[in-house]
Amino acid sequence: MMPSVRRWWWALAPVLVWACAGGDGGSQGAGGRAAGAEAGGRGISAGRALEFVTAQVAFGPRVPGTEGHVAAGQWLDSILRARADTVIVQAFEHRTVEGRTLRLRNFFARFRPEDPTRVLFLSHWDTRPISDQARDASARRLPVPGANDGASGTAVLLALAELFDTVPPPIGVDLLLVDGEDYGDFGAERDVFLGSRHFVAHRPAGYRPLYGVLLDMVGDRELDLYIEGYSQQYAPEIVRRVWDLADRIGYGNVFHRSVRHTVKDDHVPLNEAKIQTINIIDFDYPYWHTPDDTPDKVSGESLRAVGDVLAALVYRGG
Ligand SMILES: [Zn+2]
Repeated sequence: MMPSVRRWWWALAPVLVWACAGGDGGSQGAGGRAAGAEAGGRGISAGRALEFVTAQVAFGPRVPGTEGHVAAGQWLDSILRARADTVIVQAFEHRTVEGRTLRLRNFFARFRPEDPTRVLFLSHWDTRPISDQARDASARRLPVPGANDGASGTAVLLALAELFDTVPPPIGVDLLLVDGEDYGDFGAERDVFLGSRHFVAHRPAGYRPLYGVLLDMVGDRELDLYIEGYSQQYAPEIVRRVWDLADRIGYGNVFHRSVRHTVKDDHVPLNEAKIQTINIIDFDYPYWHTPDDTPDKVSGESLRAVGDVLAALVYRGG
């Protein structure tokens, strides 16, 4: 994803984050002891969600055109098939500006596919081929491991798939893992958002979820979720619903009620296609698009905070 306005104070961010983490060593993660209690046990497991992050990163970078990408895709497909009522794989090819042909796959896992009342949760599962935000110039041609940028949102959705398999949802739920979000040039908007654009163009006929929720970079140990600008612009009532619910179930310390960043991301193509979609994102992540985006920067408790809010949304009927 890409912020609409470049923020050069990024270089200072690691110092600020570590300064804030000083007190308890940052091991507490998001949410307090009471958090999630109101979900009545129908939330996700922090440990399981974190396992889904490390398992994805263990495939290596999930860069389109690599073996790790193909293998991770097979693994995601098998997990979703074991849990969801239906899995639709959207396989497609994309020719990049440099003339490479990428083979890409979206995984669209559906619970209660016949139910007209449904919600859509999505994340990207691919990772970026270059670490263009690395401070060390020699590191910039390395791929991003994508523990937070790619694996975190996907891990929450996999944990939710397990939950919905165990405790069936009262409404229809679609989990969409999109490919090719992070491949190319965000400034020029070339070779990026490939899976979400493909989904919008090839979604099931008459597909009308109540709304969509995109998860991107939701695993930071110091999770702070501010309202994202396009979400507030396109879907303010969905923002309010999600942030109100987060507050009610004990995650008001994580979901902050002010707009901070405005980020071009996979929710924009969906909103342009009239599917109101918000982006839950913590864009204050010092390891963004660097080789240091590794699982040790991610907390299971942070993943659980986000997963519990989405689970509560579903079990309350959307
Ligand atoms: Zn990215």
